[in-house]
Amino acid sequence: MKLYNTLSRKVEEFVPSNPDEVKIYTCGPTVYSYAHIGNYTSYTYWDLLIRVLRLNGYKEKRVLNITDVGHLTSDSDLGEDKMEKGARREGKTVWEVAQMYMDDFLEKFRMLGLIEPSEICRATDYIDADKKLVEALDKAGYLYDTTDGLYFDTSKFPKYAEFARLDLENLRAGARVEYSDEKRNASDFAVWKWIREGEDHAMKWEFRGRMGYPGWHLECSTIIHERLGEPIDIHCGGVDHIPVHHTNEIAQTEGAFGGQMSKFWLHNNFITIDGEKISKSLGNVYYFSDLAEKGFSPIDFKMWLYQGHYQAERDFSFEQLAAAHARLTNYRNFAALRWQNGEKSDFVEARAEIMECLNSNLNSAGAFAVLDGVAKSGLAPTDDFLKFLDDAFGLEIRETTPDISDELKAKIAKRSEAKNEKDFALADKLRDEILERGIELLDSTDGVKWQYK
Ligand code: AMP
Ligand code: ZN
Repeated sequence: MKLYNTLSRKVEEFVPSNPDEVKIYTCGPTVYSYAHIGNYTSYTYWDLLIRVLRLNGYKEKRVLNITDVGHLTSDSDLGEDKMEKGARREGKTVWEVAQMYMDDFLEKFRMLGLIEPSEICRATDYIDADKKLVEALDKAGYLYDTTDGLYFDTSKFPKYAEFARLDLENLRAGARVEYSDEKRNASDFAVWKWIREGEDHAMKWEFRGRMGYPGWHLECSTIIHERLGEPIDIHCGGVDHIPVHHTNEIAQTEGAFGGQMSKFWLHNNFITIDGEKISKSLGNVYYFSDLAEKGFSPIDFKMWLYQGHYQAERDFSFEQLAAAHARLTNYRNFAALRWQNGEKSDFVEARAEIMECLNSNLNSAGAFAVLDGVAKSGLAPTDDFLKFLDDAFGLEIRETTPDISDELKAKIAKRSEAKNEKDFALADKLRDEILERGIELLDSTDGVKWQYK
């Protein structure tokens, strides 16, 4: 199994430390508003990763965090607190807002048919462990205190720029205008924020005799240390996390505990909509409810995503989604052949080719090209082959393609009879009735076939 490792900027052979417990961490959502389809891109692609690992015989221990505390709207420790912003908008407490959007997030996670992580950890459950990590970093000499909080001195972590290939000189020049004189280096970041005189913060905890809250990269380092232990095998997230969030996670974890944080780092690219960035001001923020209004399911969205590669920037449109839906319908009709053809195939060669594609850095697009050929063959699949497809992609092909009812089968037979007797009016009437039930009839050389519309 080969994966692109952001650490080396190369496609590498993936070999876990323990095949029975592949340690994986995915940076999770900040639960301050409904997540749009772009936010689910990451989780949907990483579900493919989990599935491919399982097909290779690995068992995973996967942790996902839920950020239910103090993320700021900017990467630079400035700006508004996202949770407090959400709470003000909703007229609720930050805790209520967190619960509401976490529930919604998990509901969509299930609607997408994504495999539930082994553990889902809320950031607010790890505050004591956060404090321990801050103490460890302080003891190792990485921190300095400011009126705003305890900051990580990135100049003391020699490989700070390495992961993201950062140009610290440029960063320094660009940041001068933006930040206070208390910060020693432009790339320094808060590991713990103080609540200053005259300020308040809804979520706050006592630390060293003062009230404050964790800096916004801390929870991932903490949760990984507590729930998985370093080094983990794979750390995943969006490409936007490379220059700041993941860079800072590495500095915190490796600064406090030494060694390596993660052996592989996987990053998915962004989706655009009709060529534009997803943004409220452009009015192109789509939720699954918007897709449902146009007759598309979260599984159609998943099909659309998997038609491309996780590292490629993809452009979403409803035409593209319709095309993905049509392709999925084609696969479902291939699956429906199992109710109609006596002879079935295991597609041993195609299965191997699909595995080869998936093992080549999750090339799902290549795997679908193989599947298109299989679907065109006219041969019916065995149940085992369909199970393999669903294990690989989670597109629920097998369970959404049940046999038609005996009553419909009788109607199809009656329509064939009418046709044979040249009663075309009756035959057409029956065909239309069957179509109304979502089943289309195709007359072929070896008899009538039905398919889902
Ligand atoms: P936000 O709540 O806007 O900070 O988004 C949370 C995370 O969702 C980001 O850190 C990204 O990794 C991911 N994300 C946001 N927009 C997109 C997008 N258009 N495509 C893919 N991922 C996205
Ligand atoms: Zn993270």
